[in-house]
Amino acid sequence: MSDSEATRAEEARAGWSDSAARAVLQLMVESVAEMIGFEVATLSVVLDGNLVTMAYTGPDEFSDYLTSTDPVSVLDPVLAHAETWGRFRFLAAEDYDASMLEGHWMVVAEEQGDTPDAWHPMDVLVGLLTDDEGRLIGAMSVDRPVSGRRPDAAQRRLLERYAAQAERAVVTAFEREALVQQVAHAEAARRLIRSASMPDQASLEAVLDHTHQPLVEGFGASGSWIQLLDDKGGGLGKARTREGEVVELSDRMVDLAHRLAPRLWEAQQVLVIAEGIEPSLPAAEPLLEESLRQLTELGLDSALAVPLGAGSECLGFLVLSRRAQDPPWSAVETGSALQIGYDLGAALMTVRALERERALVHELQQLDDYRSQLIATLSHELRTPLTVISGNLELLGDLELDPAAQPYQAAMTRGTVRMKKVVDDLLLLARVSDPQHPLARVPVDLCAIASSVVGLVGSTAEGKGLTLEARLDPAGLVVQGDPAELDRLVGNLVSNAVKYTPAGGTVTVTIERRGRTAILRVADDGLGISEEDQVGLFRPFFRTTNPDALREPGTGLGLAIVATIVDRHDGEVAVHSRLGGGTTFTVALPTD
Ligand code: ADP
Repeated sequence: MSDSEATRAEEARAGWSDSAARAVLQLMVESVAEMIGFEVATLSVVLDGNLVTMAYTGPDEFSDYLTSTDPVSVLDPVLAHAETWGRFRFLAAEDYDASMLEGHWMVVAEEQGDTPDAWHPMDVLVGLLTDDEGRLIGAMSVDRPVSGRRPDAAQRRLLERYAAQAERAVVTAFEREALVQQVAHAEAARRLIRSASMPDQASLEAVLDHTHQPLVEGFGASGSWIQLLDDKGGGLGKARTREGEVVELSDRMVDLAHRLAPRLWEAQQVLVIAEGIEPSLPAAEPLLEESLRQLTELGLDSALAVPLGAGSECLGFLVLSRRAQDPPWSAVETGSALQIGYDLGAALMTVRALERERALVHELQQLDDYRSQLIATLSHELRTPLTVISGNLELLGDLELDPAAQPYQAAMTRGTVRMKKVVDDLLLLARVSDPQHPLARVPVDLCAIASSVVGLVGSTAEGKGLTLEARLDPAGLVVQGDPAELDRLVGNLVSNAVKYTPAGGTVTVTIERRGRTAILRVADDGLGISEEDQVGLFRPFFRTTNPDALREPGTGLGLAIVATIVDRHDGEVAVHSRLGGGTTFTVALPTD
């Protein structure tokens, strides 16, 4: 056995994560030795085509056994010549040429007794342990019977029973080992998918960054490469060493990914690329030589190539690499890798959809910005001629007009006032919606603002025959915000309530503190708003479908301004209303 094989066997032994399983096997050999009467008993398991000793009992001088590893083929001569005793094979010294055997269980040379059934030092007795499908998974061998005799029928029965138990123990340990690996991979995959789906990490670039670590750790790989495939033969790709060092990707590698990944995805297979390993997929064979060349150029010894995809679409290619000193890729690992190909493929699909959505939102935002800019510019442009018109109308009013002309002058004045209101509201909405115009916060007494609004609207309310009540704390309630904007907020809500409440009704303005929030409530017992209308209420230019409300002049901008100002102040606005049953608007604003 070469040194590197020995190290590998040692690693395999140590790597058998289930040390409890090893303890069971040790107990097993000790029981066999003690109960059946052998000085030496060993138990080996098959790992990567080698018989690796896991448990030994016997004289210290042979404890080399514990580090012994031989290819499974050492059993061949035994199988060829031995007598079968259940699971055991007995090879009597006189039936073979001792030079045929080398290794594993050849322990000692000692004197043979002189009875006919005496144990010969060159006798071999080994039990073959197999899994449910008959594959060899281990061997139990015994030597140096205490009695000095070859085992009798009773001892053979006992041996058989112990071998059966050992077999179970090894099968269980293998299953556990597979499970442990699977769990590790599943955990790696979960971490990977979790990090890939985090909203702040949901960009394809971020997926590549965040999947590297869990992948190399989960698979004990020396490096990872994820290549996304685009239609043009390119795509985002990143290769890194286990330590995170970025590996330059050549065009040939990217090209190889484009050719290999779809074939693997179609076959739903992963591919182990290593010198001397037959490709598991004939379709990949023509590309194998090229893949091996690339591997060698990168100083790597083996790689696991995994297609990433979702549905019928192959989205990318994942390659995990290993060096000469690393163990070969196990069946469990290749199985888990394929699973990760699905999971990562699904995550990539989601992220791709998210990225497209984000681009769309960005486009819409740009469109919206453009619209706001257009409105702001137009409003500005309209404002100057409007001022000229209204100024001239005022001058006209001062003249002694022909009585026949007076109604025309009055109508033009009303129209101009309406138009001015629309332009002013549009300008205000554009200003409070402009991200370039940040909010300048100062302490503002909300009660003082409400009180001044109520004072201003009071005469209109009175003229309409309404009761306008204000329930405000005389000590005031301070919030942080822009006084002019908060004035517009309260003003719009109170004037709406007055506007949409018929004579005889009541409008109540309340402000109270709830913890660190100021609650402004404007309630009326007026027309109310239908449920359908409530949906679009805060959209610019929204006007109700209720003909009674439509009779009142309005721009449909007042509530859009309210909502935007509330939003800028980190507050919330809600409406509670029933058609014909009055309306309450509630605004919550943080006090600090
Ligand atoms: P407008 O200039 O039309 O009043 P707003 O944005 O202020 O625009 O209001 C939008 C619509 O919401 C109004 O047209 C009206 O139908 C409805 N509305 C607003 N406030 C009330 C209220 N207090 N009672 C009934 N309807 C209201």
